Amino acid sequence: MKKPVTLQQAIVYFGDSDRAFEYAKWLRWPDDKLTCPRCGSDSNSFVKTRKLWFCNGCKKQFTVKVGTIFEDSPIGLDKWMTAVWMICNCKNGISSYELHRCIGVTQKTAWFMLHRIREAMKSGSFMKMGSEGGPIEVDEAYIGGKFKNMHLAKRHRIQEAGRSTSKAMVFGMLDRNTRQVRAKVLPEVERGTLMCEILNGVKSGATVYTDGLAVYTPAQRHFIHETVNHVTEYVRGEVHTNGIENFWSLLKRSLGGTYVAVEPFHLDRYVTEQVFRFNNRATKDNPLTDEDRFALAMSQVAGRRLTYAQLTGNGAD
Ligand SMILES: [Zn+2]
Repeated sequence: MKKPVTLQQAIVYFGDSDRAFEYAKWLRWPDDKLTCPRCGSDSNSFVKTRKLWFCNGCKKQFTVKVGTIFEDSPIGLDKWMTAVWMICNCKNGISSYELHRCIGVTQKTAWFMLHRIREAMKSGSFMKMGSEGGPIEVDEAYIGGKFKNMHLAKRHRIQEAGRSTSKAMVFGMLDRNTRQVRAKVLPEVERGTLMCEILNGVKSGATVYTDGLAVYTPAQRHFIHETVNHVTEYVRGEVHTNGIENFWSLLKRSLGGTYVAVEPFHLDRYVTEQVFRFNNRATKDNPLTDEDRFALAMSQVAGRRLTYAQLTGNGAD
């Protein structure tokens, strides 16, 4: 059977448990050199009836799920893979309610699955932006907490804490040459933090475009820094932040439409998800398909486990 192209084909394709297994195995060990995820030994024997390996090194058995985001989950690979396909390819994301209805698991399980999959969507590049000579657009966005819709008691609490809103800040940078975005939630607007992010993420001497916010003034010392004043102008020739603002509107659309109530604690993972889809979208030079995005996320499922306690903030760190 041909590799799937559409969601419908993906559901049929991975609905066959043998095929889902073979696909997951191929992505995890593309060269077919199976190593034990626990001890690293490459000596093992396959137990075909149970789709697992017995490791001759540590004398324990392992499955294709061990050491991945699927570990310890009773949900079959067929449902997991359908979920990965959907979150990678639905432009505005998918809510736990939609997934719960689509694949027939509880909403709570769907919520947990989606958060685990987001772990596999992290990119984690250490290369600095601007390395290819392109200008970098730097900007921040504020998410959540509409003041006027807030319960009065909560509003008072926030005002007493000396903050004007409960919005979370997301900081983002777009490399105009590579069309890649990096974004993350920052705890509070702080000059040092923002400058730290730029210094860590952008090659020294690169061109950086920001709005006129004073926190970006120190950037002049390390970069060719140009600002656009959003009170009077939005674009001055090449100097604008429209690219990163386009990313913010995509993020806000998916948060507002699909993820109705996002707690700040989880916001970073939703940002990760949007960054993944944005950075891996199809362009003229790079015509990626739904299957490419799916395979990329699937190839990153190992070593990204997230426990329920971590997700809910109970107990574990
Ligand atoms: Zn072993």
